[in-house]
Amino acid sequence: MDKNTRICIVGGGPAGLSAGMYLEQKGYENYTILERLDRVGGKCWSPTYNGRRYEMGAIMGVPSYYAVHDVEEFCGITHDGPKLNRNYKNSKGDVIEPFEPKKNILKIPRLLKMKKQVKKLGEILETKYKGYDVNGHRGVAEGRYDGFSQANAKREPISGVNPNLKDLCLPFSEFCRINGVELTQDIWIGPYTSFGYGYFDEIPAAYVLKYLDFQTCMNFVKVNLWTWKNGTQYIWEQLNDHLKHPARLNSTIEKVERKDGKVFVTVNGQVEEYDKIIVTAPLYIPNKRTDGQKGMVEYFDAREDEKALFSKIDYERYDVLAVETKPEDHPEISYYVFENMQKERLGHLMVYYRRWKDTKDQVITTYALRKHKDTKEVPYEACRQMVLDDLKTMHNPASNVINEWSVYYFPHVFSKDYADGWYDKVEAMQGKYDTYYAGEVMSFGDMDETAEYSRELVERFF
Ligand SMILES: Cc1cc2nc3c(=O)[nH]c(=O)nc-3n(C[C@H](O)[C@H](O)[C@H](O)COP(=O)(O)OP(=O)(O)OC[C@H]3O[C@@H](n4cnc5c(N)ncnc54)[C@H](O)[C@@H]3O)c2cc1C
Repeated sequence: MDKNTRICIVGGGPAGLSAGMYLEQKGYENYTILERLDRVGGKCWSPTYNGRRYEMGAIMGVPSYYAVHDVEEFCGITHDGPKLNRNYKNSKGDVIEPFEPKKNILKIPRLLKMKKQVKKLGEILETKYKGYDVNGHRGVAEGRYDGFSQANAKREPISGVNPNLKDLCLPFSEFCRINGVELTQDIWIGPYTSFGYGYFDEIPAAYVLKYLDFQTCMNFVKVNLWTWKNGTQYIWEQLNDHLKHPARLNSTIEKVERKDGKVFVTVNGQVEEYDKIIVTAPLYIPNKRTDGQKGMVEYFDAREDEKALFSKIDYERYDVLAVETKPEDHPEISYYVFENMQKERLGHLMVYYRRWKDTKDQVITTYALRKHKDTKEVPYEACRQMVLDDLKTMHNPASNVINEWSVYYFPHVFSKDYADGWYDKVEAMQGKYDTYYAGEVMSFGDMDETAEYSRELVERFF
């Protein structure tokens, strides 16, 4: 492609900004990033409270966050944040140690079995499911892998045939059942469901295992995690500052028309002309949102194939509260509540996060899911109240809510559409209307998978 190609990037979150970085590194300098909000970072949102930044969105990374590391190197920054740690409570608010055999004498046989199954899952992922952990979902539904190895920072291109990969279309609980590793869900659920990515009986195994590949999951278990002192938003603010063309903020896109090999974007009332457009913003949102976010099919001249495919996308209703507590009620550590990670406990507090251990004048943040594919959504206000009540039950009552949001979170498709080849159909459309699709749904809803997908998109098409 001509290096002077005029490229419009929709969205100034991790996917859009890293697309800018990788394009620039490849010699494409004629790009424009349009961001609808007055800040960059998207779901990496780190506001300030009492002089320190806390996390309303993304919190942590792991050492295999190679794309995030590319960004750190590009900007000369590093993961310099507080060390994380956690404990566990039951839904009655008692501290428990679910993985400590001495505290769970009756559960020793189950714990031993679980350990064996974790080992087995690690082995079959490397053998039977070879190729499972490349970024993105190309070929999985057809029993192929095609992408870039995530085994080390080099990320060599790899591809091959492996019919077993079709099992990744199944919901994760079913995938575990057919492989005799059901108890591994006791481990995977912590960094999965409580992080808002849905329930194992509804989410295809591909999402679970591409995000929580064996190494990554073990990093969570061993609390081998990265954080950033000034928050995850700082990574993307830094990247924005280091780009030749920082994102244009407060850019409301009213219309996108693609005709005669050109892309016409109406932004804040002015028509701008580009040659290509990369969309990292939501492709489809099935309901009306109070924050005004819309799917691209609503403001683009969406074609029938785009509408048909993108209307299959759903997302998680994931709510975050930032609360103050009285000093005497402040938690001494972050807590996970496994009993509340079951769909029967929809809307309850699953985890609460205490970021700074040297002070009690900082907020804690709470996390709850309020939708499962097969059940009625718990209304926002009801969920908010349940979470505040749960904090009382946990002996850490809130004195004040200082920030809150209900996030457009983890767009994905369900097993049937995944198995019907949704990803291969969308991948075949890349570039067709001078349009490229990136961002969370194309890989997975975390900072690194989205930035990595942008890296590979640039590698593959530009
Ligand atoms: C509570 C929470 C906890 C999380 N924890 C972690 C974690 O610990 N680790 C991790 O790696 N990830 C975590 N994530 C996920 C991570 O933040 C996201 O996966 C990542 O930010 C996705 O990047 P993105 O660029 O694809 O999308 P986004 O971050 O959503 O960015 C999209 C951008 O597009 C903009 N936009 C939308 N529509 C338009 C439009 N029409 N025109 C212009 N701009 C538009 C948005 O304003 C936004 O800035 C968490 C997220 C949340 C909410």
